[in-house]
Amino acid sequence: MRRKIVAGNWKMNGSKGLVSNLVGQVRSELASFDNGVEAVIIPPALFVDDVVEQAGKKLAVGVQNVACWSSGAYTGEISAAMAKDCGCGFTLVGHSERRQLFGETDEQVATKVEQALASGLVAVICVGETLEERDAGKAEDVVSRQVRKAVADVGNGLWQQVVIAYEPVWAIGTGKTATADDAQAMHAAIRAVLMSLGAPADEVSLLYGGSVKADNAAALFAQPDIDGGLIGGASLDASDFVSICRAV
Ligand code: PGA
Repeated sequence: MRRKIVAGNWKMNGSKGLVSNLVGQVRSELASFDNGVEAVIIPPALFVDDVVEQAGKKLAVGVQNVACWSSGAYTGEISAAMAKDCGCGFTLVGHSERRQLFGETDEQVATKVEQALASGLVAVICVGETLEERDAGKAEDVVSRQVRKAVADVGNGLWQQVVIAYEPVWAIGTGKTATADDAQAMHAAIRAVLMSLGAPADEVSLLYGGSVKADNAAALFAQPDIDGGLIGGASLDASDFVSICRAV
């Protein structure tokens, strides 16, 4: 059985006020049903402590990024070990905003995955093509390359800490969602790549991200290779986020 995960990526949004309003509500609404979903809140790192404090047992916490190094003179960076130490169970790695706005390379993504796994975090590795790449018929090649490079050094016993989130760049924050069929096709392709690498492909959770909302989540999550979602905008509203968690 693969883990069913819904993770809310707050990006650079929120405040201590939002933490106290949203986390308690999500926590109590999650307690009212049990469909096996693991819900994760991924706030800006400054709010991790507050979220951890209010999250309780049913709600996991993550960071949006970790450093390529475990400690040292890297001003402004946060290590995977620090995130773990503060109560995080998850980290995003290689979100398209990191790749596009901060020039994160496939090599850096692979290093961050290694750091995350070595520290005991689940690495949610984000992959996805741009609209240009999709229009040029290269979507599958791009995603396949990103996956291969990101997991190149994942050791045998560590696959249960690997999650892959397929987020077509053109669907992020745009209100455009991949159709459930297109998303399923890419998820199946990702699973085939993992299989070709000798990974336990059937055990790796694959999430879809990109304008997932309360009203389109169920159709996406009904696909056989989609094991949950990575949610941006809709994770900033407690009711929307919980509705998406229910749709798993
Ligand atoms: P969105 O963001 O749900 O606002 O499209 C998803 C993401 O970037 O993880």
